[in-house]
Amino acid sequence: MRQIDHFIVGKMPPAARFGDVLDPNNGGVQARVGLGDAAVLAQAVSAAQAAQPAWAATNPQRRARVMFRFKALIERHIDELAEMLSAEHGKVIADSRGDIQRGLEVVEFCCGIPHALKGEYSQGAGPGIDVYSMRQPIGIGAGITPFNFPAMIPLWMGAVAVAVGNAFILKPSERDPSVPNRLAELFQEAGLPAGIFQVVHGDKEMVDAILDHPAIAAVSFVGSSDIAQYVYSRGVAAGKRVQAMGGAKNHGIVMPDADLDQVVNDVCGAAFGSAGERCMALPVVVPVGEETAERLREKLVSAIHALQVGISTDADAHFGPVVTAQHKAKVEGWIQTAVDEGSELVIDGRNLVLQGQEQGFFIGPTLLDHVTADMESYKQEIFGPVLQIVRAPDFETALALPSQHQYGNGVAIFTRNGHVAREFAARVNVGMVGINVPIPVPVAYHSFGGWKRSGFGDQNQYGMEGVRFWTKVKTVTARWPDGGDDASNAFIIPTMG
Ligand code: NAD
Repeated sequence: MRQIDHFIVGKMPPAARFGDVLDPNNGGVQARVGLGDAAVLAQAVSAAQAAQPAWAATNPQRRARVMFRFKALIERHIDELAEMLSAEHGKVIADSRGDIQRGLEVVEFCCGIPHALKGEYSQGAGPGIDVYSMRQPIGIGAGITPFNFPAMIPLWMGAVAVAVGNAFILKPSERDPSVPNRLAELFQEAGLPAGIFQVVHGDKEMVDAILDHPAIAAVSFVGSSDIAQYVYSRGVAAGKRVQAMGGAKNHGIVMPDADLDQVVNDVCGAAFGSAGERCMALPVVVPVGEETAERLREKLVSAIHALQVGISTDADAHFGPVVTAQHKAKVEGWIQTAVDEGSELVIDGRNLVLQGQEQGFFIGPTLLDHVTADMESYKQEIFGPVLQIVRAPDFETALALPSQHQYGNGVAIFTRNGHVAREFAARVNVGMVGINVPIPVPVAYHSFGGWKRSGFGDQNQYGMEGVRFWTKVKTVTARWPDGGDDASNAFIIPTMG
């Protein structure tokens, strides 16, 4: 059986525990990953401590050149990475390429890191006094990432953390650990010194070791909300800087004037793409007015019937299996809950079996109508290919639904009315808004972050927010006296008055 080990400097410690890496297409075990502990982490941290000062002292332009080479290597290996990703995650190859491409775009942002790191300067802030500030790396940072974007999310964090001069230790999901290791190899091939980007595999034991390690100054987490909150609380209590992104339940508001054919196309892709296992999926659609609801439902039903579910290497499939048997059972359990709560099961994706892949974790696209805000299946994240229709009588009701939901990651509005769209964007209580854009993941030079239970901490992922998260500000107040003046009273707090 293929074994996946940590990517750390030094001799590999033997693993005491292993996790199964499944093939979601057929339900079999394709590899096993060594699950690390505090001793493995300590080895990685020692290597990081040894390497980081010289890396931080490397001028930013040279660090950027490593990013340029890394970018070229990812591009050269994108097919290999996409196949590896698809085989462990189950998302189709084209979507796997998208996962890598979105991460690559953060690497491209990092190619300009010298510009992003420029400080501020105030000449003559007082008599003969200049004040300047600089951004310095935090030292050693760690990233803990979910299964659903095994390339993009490690690069959101790791690329920025490293580019600004830190050493970074990644603890990826144990479900699909191969791509993170391959990225670490490519980073090294690009000229990144050993010890600057390492990968430790594991589960809760490794996460706790990271949160408790005194030499790790900052932790970036992406995953489900309860764990995000746990990581945030424990990390902050240990004096670390923590950003922790959580789950989501994104709504798509459909106004009566929207182009419904476009909406249906967008919503189907956003609800069912990657089997709904995206934190920016659109699992709730909110038509405004009964007429809009009826027209939308009719078009959705025929579009959903045309969707094809297949193995992840099937070029004709719109989406593949979900990640594990447990997750399949959980999603199917939510469908049953939704039915028991009184919503209407319009299309049932349960019990889908693909010939020759009987043990695969497949769920067909599922549509539920007449879902209401008091239902548990609406309040919670399902994270599968399940679309819920929540009908709203008017704009204000539609606006209130995502605004009052416990999650506040992304939201979209579909309309031809600029005033309505502008009003919605200004008032909705959600972190990322799409206007006729179903999955509004911001580009790499903006930043990503949800509100409420979708994000703990106060700085977003990547872009300038990422640069701020992975650096600390030092401010210097400097005076060069000529010896001839200043009889001021040194016992009074200095002011610039
Ligand atoms: P998860 O919370 O199960 O796992 C995330 C990470 O936490 C993994 O590395 C895992 O090993 C670790 N972990 C799991 N259980 C733990 C525990 N008890 N204690 C400490 N660490 C633990 O999430 P997942 O199933 O891998 O990913 C799906 C979730 O991630 C969904 O909720 C999705 O919405 C969310 N997500 C959010 C974003 C975002 O940016 N907001 C992006 C992608 C995914």
